[in-house]
Amino acid sequence: MSRSAVWHPFTQHATEPVPTTIVRTEGAYVDTREGKRVLDAISSWWVITHGHRQPKIMEAIRNATETLDQVIFAGLSHEPAERLAVALVELAPTGLDWVFYSDSGSTSVEVALKMALGFHRNNGAPRSRIVVMEHSYHGDTIGTMSVGARGVFNAAYEPLLFQVDKIPFPAAGRQQETLDSFERLARGREVAALIVEPLVLGAGGMLMYPASVLAELKRIAERSGTLFIADEVMTGWGRTGTMFACEQAAITPDILCTSKGLTGGSLPLAATLATDAIFRAHYSSDRTKTFFHSSSYTANPIACAAALANVGIWNDEPAAERVTALSRMQAEKIARFKGDARFENVRTTGTIAALDLSVGNAGYLAEVGPKLRTFFLQRGLLVRPLGNVIYLLPPYCVTSLELDRLYAAIDEAAALAGTGR
Ligand SMILES: *Cc1c(COP(=O)(O)O)cnc(C)c1O
Repeated sequence: MSRSAVWHPFTQHATEPVPTTIVRTEGAYVDTREGKRVLDAISSWWVITHGHRQPKIMEAIRNATETLDQVIFAGLSHEPAERLAVALVELAPTGLDWVFYSDSGSTSVEVALKMALGFHRNNGAPRSRIVVMEHSYHGDTIGTMSVGARGVFNAAYEPLLFQVDKIPFPAAGRQQETLDSFERLARGREVAALIVEPLVLGAGGMLMYPASVLAELKRIAERSGTLFIADEVMTGWGRTGTMFACEQAAITPDILCTSKGLTGGSLPLAATLATDAIFRAHYSSDRTKTFFHSSSYTANPIACAAALANVGIWNDEPAAERVTALSRMQAEKIARFKGDARFENVRTTGTIAALDLSVGNAGYLAEVGPKLRTFFLQRGLLVRPLGNVIYLLPPYCVTSLELDRLYAAIDEAAALAGTGR
């Protein structure tokens, strides 16, 4: 092949191997041009839920192209978007009655932040502070980087990022500290919203915290008139064991962001769900109160059709049962590493399992990260550690035997840490 013109995401082209070309995907696998089947243990960056090229979703996409492509979504509407909105309201925690479409997780979060500020301003009591959780990730646009953890990823753009207030990550034993910190910040009644990744902080290192903390944060937010934004872009669609992670805390956020698994991972689409109170704050004969946001591809009909097929799978097939079975397998299989000095923080939440390789230099740029990636790929396994954090976030069609292969490889990979015990 001639020289590639592609600049890949989160890729250091000077030091990383040339990206492997994939020619076909199916179920839990992506196949390389050389004919190697690679087990996709990270659901292709957390988007694939049931499996690659899920037949019903592929069929829905083909059918949708018979009648529709993109249509402007201001002033016009279409059935796939209308039907999907009804389905999302039904699936989401009770009280989220409005669905605003966009096209990526980042835009769904941008929309949420804008809704939050618009809500307070339109109600005549403007608030502008956003409270965020330490180590969180909400996307790579300027706004979403602003509400995410600062570090090597965004050091160059720091001058453009807006100021936010940060509460500590609720690590075991430090949960009261998190709640107290939020309580103090919210008391001033200047905080427009708290934004959190419920139960699992993905890109921050698959950090997990209990539903009780989430429920308590919601209560504090309510008492102080602070909006609660749940970024369920990664955690939604079964990933944490329930359809949405918020269910485990029995809370309804004021705003909920969903994207990755929305179309089963087949096409880009996002939705920001909001309560009626937030919609009503923008509903007025005064046109300056309009919610001023749009993306060209808002509610793409083909993507909406794919999402509807995905909803159909959740409603008609034992998808939830698969999630429960996978969650149990993950917990059972990773247990072998508990008490093993080569690893720390062995943990699972629903279908997500993670552990930290004991190394001297941790963090995203830990030396061991790229080495591990290559090690796994050579064994036909797509695993992409976050620094020294190895995690498995597979599609729900993965089998017990495939998980065994993955855990056996993790056992072997520990030798790469070079520290032993
Ligand atoms: C991936 C992710 C995003 C950003 O989604 P994109 O589709 O990559 O823009 C936002 N929030 C969370 C929690 C994510 O995991």
